[in-house]
Amino acid sequence: MRDKFNRGIDYMRVSVTDLCNLRCFYCMPEDGVCKRGHGDVLRYEEIVQIVEEGAKIGINKIRITGGEPLVRPGIEELVARISEIEGIKEVSMTTNGILLDGKVKELKRAGLNRINISMDSLNPGKYRRITRGGSLERVFRAVNTCLEEGIKPVKTNTVILKGINDDEIEDFARLTTVLPIHVRFIELMPVGEAAEVYDKYYMSVDEVMAKLPGLVPAVQGMGNGPAECYAYKGALGTVGFIAALSHNFCRNCNRIRLTADGKIKPCLNSNVEVDLKPAIREGKGSVAELFGAAIGQKPEKHHMEEMQDAGGNRRMYQIGG
Ligand code: SAM
Ligand code: SF4
Repeated sequence: MRDKFNRGIDYMRVSVTDLCNLRCFYCMPEDGVCKRGHGDVLRYEEIVQIVEEGAKIGINKIRITGGEPLVRPGIEELVARISEIEGIKEVSMTTNGILLDGKVKELKRAGLNRINISMDSLNPGKYRRITRGGSLERVFRAVNTCLEEGIKPVKTNTVILKGINDDEIEDFARLTTVLPIHVRFIELMPVGEAAEVYDKYYMSVDEVMAKLPGLVPAVQGMGNGPAECYAYKGALGTVGFIAALSHNFCRNCNRIRLTADGKIKPCLNSNVEVDLKPAIREGKGSVAELFGAAIGQKPEKHHMEEMQDAGGNRRMYQIGG
């Protein structure tokens, strides 16, 4: 389906929970978040039903995210059911990797094609401080298992935090010379907890790239997302840059988001939400028409740079990144 700016919308990010086993300081409050009422969160059958309807209007790629998707029991079963839906060509996941290692085989068997693992430091102590308790060793074990099991591509997400991990930019980029992974640097967005620390820690991708001479443009081959792709000569992987703020990427935006409580968000940064629950639970309205209504309200671009808290009414752990 095309939106009114003629962008083809074929990708949906599905958040399966707001809960998380980490507390990254720019994303989650230290005390965590309140558990939603049981009936608030979509059941797996409901997510499957929504994806089936989405597939009929041209959604062919699904990314499972959260909160932390692996804290929700039985996620492998959801992956399996989604990957069997006619029209769905690709199922991927964004995870912090803490619970991933023991689940890689099962996820691959269930049909998971691609994975993004978040990792904001290569230093175990710093990683623990950023995430307020996470174990980098577990994340690395999961990265290696994903590579061994042949999940392709394996990407890592690093949010650049000035004065915290900007001294590790080259170390992250050089990982691509020893491992076949795709390292992506992401600009901090002033959403949720990050709105308060944004001025202090924001660093643009131009500043990051300036620290990485020797990279040459690479073919976008491994995805159709907002990353600009580069590589070192002869490297096994690529280095990507996602500049939500400094190089607005909305012109090529191909995505919508489904929140854990059943709302379609046509833009990360807009308060517009279309509730699918009445349609799937009470038969009030058709899911296909509601998809059309949501895509019809997709704004031309986000306005994060003008806003104090660009996530509007939702936090990043409620949107899924
Ligand atoms: N828990 C999973 C994880 O960390 O990968 C999935 C959800 S998390 C919200 C998805 C991605 O959003 C992570 O890579 C995280 O670092 C990123 N993120 C969270 N808050 C952000 C912010 N304010 N600006 C930019 N990226 C952010
Ligand atoms: Fe959890 Fe991911 Fe947010 Fe970190 S970025 S607190 S892992 S949801």
